Amino acid sequence: MSVDELVFQAIRRPHTIDFDRLALFAFHLNNVGQPPLRGPSRPALWANEFVRNVLWRNGAWQTAALDQASIDRFIAAKMIGGDQVRTKARNNYRYFFELAGYLPTRTPTVNAGASSWIASALFLAWDRYLLDGGRNTESALLAHVRSEELHKLLGVTDANAISNARILVKGYLSAGSVRRFSLITALFPVATPAATPSRHVPSPSPTATSSEAEWLDQDGSDETVERSVVSRLAQKRNRKIASQLRLHYKHACMFCGVRLQVGEGRFYSEAAHVKPLGKPHDGPDKTDNLLVLCPNHHLQFDRGVLRLKVEGSKLRIVSIVPSDPLHNKLIAPSHALDTSCVNWHFDWFDDKR
Ligand SMILES: [Zn+2]
Repeated sequence: MSVDELVFQAIRRPHTIDFDRLALFAFHLNNVGQPPLRGPSRPALWANEFVRNVLWRNGAWQTAALDQASIDRFIAAKMIGGDQVRTKARNNYRYFFELAGYLPTRTPTVNAGASSWIASALFLAWDRYLLDGGRNTESALLAHVRSEELHKLLGVTDANAISNARILVKGYLSAGSVRRFSLITALFPVATPAATPSRHVPSPSPTATSSEAEWLDQDGSDETVERSVVSRLAQKRNRKIASQLRLHYKHACMFCGVRLQVGEGRFYSEAAHVKPLGKPHDGPDKTDNLLVLCPNHHLQFDRGVLRLKVEGSKLRIVSIVPSDPLHNKLIAPSHALDTSCVNWHFDWFDDKR
């Protein structure tokens, strides 16, 4: 996933708070775009410099550095552009910290919460380093963490970043480093079903991605930011509703009953919207429009491979694969479901074949 894609997803799609924090980290790595910086620095990296030189101090991010006045001072000294551009850059930058749940805060330092996203962040930084022609060795990868001062972008101490990097670098190399993507693609070729695009995470067209991700452009209006704030608040609410329902089912898939264990006493399940939220379907963000499923059955449900037929207080699973053991299985949900959404899903995929 490219940095631009991360930023785009962070602004537009449902996702976790760790994803937002990773996107912010990726933004700080970003080295594309027009150079707004005075002096011989990397292009478009004023935010990277801001973190390393202003935000991070004494092992943590300092809350006061994120004050409007503090950012304004930095931008005025570093960025070429009119008042409007600078104000927009500041507002959008602060907005990014709000999205990631770092602002507002009353504590003098901002807890980056890096422990839950540091692994992804280091993998991302190493990918970028190798794609830029870096050396694929343990010592070079560790040296990169130091020379780029990644600990500052992670909001942790130097020692913390390096000790994590030492542990993670072996896993990174044994996973094939940046080549792991081609390995994954070769191992798991993605089937492309006809006329049933994934509705929950639709692939944005390449043009939409690059233009939408350029959120520092002067063209990006305040209304765009405002709309994003509103939709982000809605997403937060959705996540809470969804996690409550997942707990209600103790992470057991409503279709197959599997509780996917991901650690000692830790389980993983997904909340699937029966009728998708947002345009064009505008499904309700309520528990009666949600199912708790394992990742496999979530995918099959989203693609219409599995559908549900309402039968009184029960639901019958209908698979397009008649030999599927789930085909014709009756399930009894222990939460109320909106039958109009269930019927909508059934009919929607009926029309598609
Ligand atoms: Zn399942």
